[in-house]
Amino acid sequence: MTTPPIPFIDLKTQRARMGSAVDEAILKVVNHGAYIMGPEVIELERQLGEFCGAKHVLSCANGTDALGLVLMAKGVGPGDAVFVPAFTFVATAEVVAWVGATPVFVDVDEDNFNMNPAHLAASIKWARDNGLRPVGVIPVDLFGQPADYQAILPIAEAEELWLMSDAAQSFGAKLNNRAVGTFGLATATSFFPAKPLGCYGDGGAVFTDDDELIEVLRSIRIHGQGSDKYENVRIGINGRLDTIQAAVLIEKLKLFPDEIEARDRVASRYNAGLADVARVPHLRAGTTSVWAQYTLVLNDRDKVAAACKAANVPTAIYYPIPLSHQLGYKHFPTGPGGVPVSERLSAGVLSLPMHPYLAPDVQDRIIDTVRQAI
Ligand SMILES: *Cc1c(COP(=O)(O)O)cnc(C)c1O
Repeated sequence: MTTPPIPFIDLKTQRARMGSAVDEAILKVVNHGAYIMGPEVIELERQLGEFCGAKHVLSCANGTDALGLVLMAKGVGPGDAVFVPAFTFVATAEVVAWVGATPVFVDVDEDNFNMNPAHLAASIKWARDNGLRPVGVIPVDLFGQPADYQAILPIAEAEELWLMSDAAQSFGAKLNNRAVGTFGLATATSFFPAKPLGCYGDGGAVFTDDDELIEVLRSIRIHGQGSDKYENVRIGINGRLDTIQAAVLIEKLKLFPDEIEARDRVASRYNAGLADVARVPHLRAGTTSVWAQYTLVLNDRDKVAAACKAANVPTAIYYPIPLSHQLGYKHFPTGPGGVPVSERLSAGVLSLPMHPYLAPDVQDRIIDTVRQAI
């Protein structure tokens, strides 16, 4: 008897659930013809702002551009230091290098995978003492859980640094009843298909309450345009979100609150089934997660991963190498003492299938497989 393959992320069930609504939304754009900056783009920005409580929303081509647009708008450049966690997806540090500034790698907390505030403070001091000019910090809400903004924001403020939150994995999550999208100067998110809120291609957004910043971001998104289309007042990029993707996101946003609850139920079931045999994810008090990933920390990760593979249970390793150790990034500095926690996590993490449509019987099969492997 063969069991059907388990998807790591199941976008097909969601697609079936949306049915003809998403077909019609896409076709409407195909027929009205405003493929670039069409009415759905404006409507999506309005709905996203309403969803999280941010005053301004700028949709854009992808999450990496969302991060990069803010750095461009802030005029970040050579000699500037921007503090990023070592344990994250490459884009967080990549955008700092884009603008010629120096990413300084900060270690993360063992139990929640997010930027360690004490190591951030030490790293800022180290950067100043070593001739760099600290200008900003980019905490990442890794795997869907908000970073410790209560501890990090006061550090940033005391040092007069701006804070941009990399919420590519966490849009929809909350910290003390405040939604992701409202912490610090700006928040960047991604609508890559595998993110908790994903479109059918690339997409992203920036959230801010800052009236001046949003004007500059709007200009940079479209080639640094001024008040007229062919007036260019600064260096910009082509960073727009396609109207078709906005139409898809408007449909998916309707399901999103329900999907967030479903993700939480899946995570709870994993916790209940695995907490006695593995280190399961830990949410800090007052935080919710949208569970972009459900990630275990294991003593013998590679053995467990191999056993899962043999049982046709897909797993993934986010992330196998700290950014500070990557060939393209190892010439950039790390804070004092290096990033030992990021190194340990890279060797021990294993992410399990996670999506809102994971049926209990399938999930139990995954849990049993992992338990046996351990
Ligand atoms: C996915 C991701 C990004 C980049 O988003 P894209 O839309 O793929 O450009 C940035 N940071 C983190 C933490 C991510 O997970």
